[in-house]
Amino acid sequence: MERLESYVLGRWQPAAGELATVVDPTHETPLGQVGSHGIDFQAVLAYGREKGGPALRALTFAERGKLLAGIAAAIHEKRDELIDVSIQSGGTTRGDAKFDIDGAIGTLTYYAGLGEKLGSRTYLLDGDVVQLGRTPRFSGLHVRVPRRGVAVHVNAFNFPAWGMMEKAACALLAGMPVLEKPGTPTALLAWRIARLVIEKVKLPDGAFQVVIGSLGDTLDHMGPQDVLAFTGSSATGAKLRGHPNLVRHNVRVNVEADSLNAAVLAPDVDTGSETFGLFLNNVVTDMTQKTGQKCTAVRRILVPSDALNSVRDELVAALARIVVGDPADKLTRMGPLASKSQLDEVRAGIERFAQSGTLACGGSKPVHAKGYFVAPTLVVARDGREPAFHREEVFGPVAVLLPYSGDAREAAAIVNLGGGGLVCSAYSNDAAWSTTFALEVAPWHGRVWLASDKSAEQSLAPGMVLPQMVHGGPGRAGGGEELGAERGLAFYQQRTAIQGFQGHLQTL
Ligand code: NAP
Repeated sequence: MERLESYVLGRWQPAAGELATVVDPTHETPLGQVGSHGIDFQAVLAYGREKGGPALRALTFAERGKLLAGIAAAIHEKRDELIDVSIQSGGTTRGDAKFDIDGAIGTLTYYAGLGEKLGSRTYLLDGDVVQLGRTPRFSGLHVRVPRRGVAVHVNAFNFPAWGMMEKAACALLAGMPVLEKPGTPTALLAWRIARLVIEKVKLPDGAFQVVIGSLGDTLDHMGPQDVLAFTGSSATGAKLRGHPNLVRHNVRVNVEADSLNAAVLAPDVDTGSETFGLFLNNVVTDMTQKTGQKCTAVRRILVPSDALNSVRDELVAALARIVVGDPADKLTRMGPLASKSQLDEVRAGIERFAQSGTLACGGSKPVHAKGYFVAPTLVVARDGREPAFHREEVFGPVAVLLPYSGDAREAAAIVNLGGGGLVCSAYSNDAAWSTTFALEVAPWHGRVWLASDKSAEQSLAPGMVLPQMVHGGPGRAGGGEELGAERGLAFYQQRTAIQGFQGHLQTL
């Protein structure tokens, strides 16, 4: 069995100490061992700060962008092999594997292009020069300079490729070295990618370190110039955010947590329309893509009361066509969950949901004798405001159908019971309904996605996170923000107001 290594202090360090086993979730066979015992994390942070940071800061945006292009090319060159690793170690179908790996390549390529556009600068200006004195002689402006610490990235298991690279792309382009920590169950793919990055791309020493396994006491050694970007469950996010050393030093923390994303059908949408077809397709894709282990997956489906039964029947019929099985098989549309603990949690969640609503399809029973499989599961709520469905994220192919009156404000009020989400999608051809709804849910969401017949043909799926648009959300979604083109760099930079003689400011 392979022992996965960490890449720290300029060398590969094999797994040591108490080892965790990475398992193929389809066949339940062990694939590798993970452990980070013996790593001196204080030294790892110092190495990043002292070696990687200065080297990256000496590069222009265009040069840093070239490094990102190099990483994208290295991943692309081995894309087929990486897809196979994802299928085996993550239980992803080929399509799901591409979603993750191509997402990584696309995001790196986007930020490589942004680097080229930002050109020969090493820092950014933020806004215009402002006159502060009686005349422009005494003025002020804002600069954004790279922070002089290490960007520690703690990633969830569900996107080992994209999750690691969307964070690394922004940090490296901003000029900060990274310490990546992938989620353990799918660490095999992250480790393979890390190997490619180290072997194929000439990154400055200390710019890219990866810990496969536990982060040890890293958080105890972080300082005011370091940043922590976390993706995972709300519970872990809250624990890390409240870490006494991070609080003491006011370490900047970004949390991307869970989200009860909603899809809302407006009353004006005819069942024969393009928008209705898009609604059905998107909901089924979102429930089953990556076996529902997607932070942006639809968890709540709001439908006008009088359409509830017909929508339920259409969804049940569509979900019945999803072939659940070995993801290596071409006919399979949905693979297993990524780990045994995921399976246990999803089954328990389905059982809790079944107590507050009616199971329309699926359930918690085993689907195959071996592997961490669960059936696509739809629960119908008796009451749209039933608290159980606005409280808990079941991180699998599980969603609940909720009735509402058809009123945009009422729909938004029900959606907002989720306490803050990453994305909310709405399907309507009525401009007034759409815009009222969008503005009512906007304070509680990072992204609002609107479908109509006019844009149906061109629209990208709501579950797709794009580097051009911000990703994150308030409240239970973690309160964080990532990506969004140049906005994604701000977390890794210090914005400083510089006030002084206009002539000096012009030099900046
Ligand atoms: P998790 O259990 O919270 O773990 C997330 C990461 O935190 C993993 O790398 C984990 O490492 C690490 N971790 C756990 N305890 C830690 C500690 N005490 N100190 C330092 N690191 C620690 O979440 P998950 O099961 O991997 O991911 C599923 C969750 O992520 C879902 O709730 C999903 O909604 C959310 N998610 C959110 C987004 C988003 O963008 N908002 C994206 C993807 C997923 P180990 O794996 O080694 O335990």
